[in-house]
Amino acid sequence: MDLADRDRRLSRAESLLPGLADRGVVAVATSFVDNSGISRVKSVPLDRLPSLAAWGVGFSTSFDYFRFDDWVAAPPGGTAPVGDQRIIPDLDRLVVLAAQPGWAWAPGERYAQTGEPYELDSRLLLTRLVDELATRRISVLSSIEIEWVVSEEGEEYVPATTGPAYGLTRLTNASDYGRDLLSALAQQGVTVEQFHPEYADGQLEVSVAPESPVHAADTSVLVRQTVRAIGRRHGLRTSFSPKVDAAGVGNGGHVHLSLGRDERNLMAGGSGRFGLTDEATAFAGGILEHLPALLALGAPSVVSYLRLVPQHWAGAYACWGLENREAALRMVTGSRGSEDWAANLEVKCFDLHANPYLTFAGLLAVGTAGLDAGTALPEPVDVDPASLGEEALASRGIERLPRTLREATDAFVDDTVLGTTFGEGLTGAIRAVRESELELFDDAEPDQIAAASRWAH
Ligand code: GLU
Ligand code: MG
Repeated sequence: MDLADRDRRLSRAESLLPGLADRGVVAVATSFVDNSGISRVKSVPLDRLPSLAAWGVGFSTSFDYFRFDDWVAAPPGGTAPVGDQRIIPDLDRLVVLAAQPGWAWAPGERYAQTGEPYELDSRLLLTRLVDELATRRISVLSSIEIEWVVSEEGEEYVPATTGPAYGLTRLTNASDYGRDLLSALAQQGVTVEQFHPEYADGQLEVSVAPESPVHAADTSVLVRQTVRAIGRRHGLRTSFSPKVDAAGVGNGGHVHLSLGRDERNLMAGGSGRFGLTDEATAFAGGILEHLPALLALGAPSVVSYLRLVPQHWAGAYACWGLENREAALRMVTGSRGSEDWAANLEVKCFDLHANPYLTFAGLLAVGTAGLDAGTALPEPVDVDPASLGEEALASRGIERLPRTLREATDAFVDDTVLGTTFGEGLTGAIRAVRESELELFDDAEPDQIAAASRWAH
């Protein structure tokens, strides 16, 4: 970023001030998501927005090593307290927060003081990978489903809605809450496609329209912030934890994606299985091949593996299948006649402790590697893999995904595609945070892990 860029950003922010003031905005927050999936924020009074947009505000380099509970998994060589990055908001994504009157928010990106992009920034990394795919004339449409539970206030999890799974009675209990949430999301320009009660008591879900990956990740941060804020206004606490309660059903963060070229969906109308084109097949093949390593990004916590078990629709097996909710990769074609716009791939095994920018970056990196290698997809699976039995699973080469964060972290460390794309600094920081969490929960029981992980994200 040079001085001319800074001038442009400054003028742009200045031009936004009157409109924001008219809408009652007093403060602007900008945040980035760290390697443990926590959004870390800085904010300024409205009149400082031009300065924020041009010059940013400081963040310590140690934030790349923060664990979800704020412990710092010290970077090597005693460098934790030294150095500074500047977080700069993306003004194109500035949103007036409907559930936090007086506040606006924009996703931020971190730059070095030289103005160079900070090489450990996950949003900038994802932007680079999206741009690389664009040079192949491939665009990506994507979204992240958000599942959460609402609880009464307090440390314990006390579901705030009860009644049958997916039951209409739950919408009666959550009627005002649901209305306020949908209205806040609409005011913020988020296109909601669905809102429904999920399986567990207190569990709800929102799905949103697909966007480019960077914007889909921004939306995922914004939707969660809105869900939290609406909860507060209703005296409720929100948890996005993959396993709020060790005995219950988990919260997923399923990722949907499709590839396109010149307005055409590459996941439909091809000659491959279920209409996939050769490119979409190879991209999906790359994802399937690297799923164990990707889990260190998409299911990044010890508690993630309490969720990722068979027969919970979490996708615990490394396989794919048409509309198969027990396959880690669920092929969705849509109804007959809608394939062109509806066909996409759902990655079910991920959860909402993930940094969404890192998850998308990982998916694009290994998908692109699949494109380069022309990776094939195995036979799809059309039953619950758990029902096949050990022998059939082994003969068909269908493996359980990592059962622990240890296994996923080891696969990540060994993955050269991810290592090369992310670079040593980012890979090392992610690894340090994962190792530190493994150490934290070394002897912990599932109940303790669920309780300690419940409210942070
Ligand atoms: N809650 C399930 C999960 O942990 C997903 C249920 C669904 O398929 O929507 O991912
Ligand atoms: Mg769901």
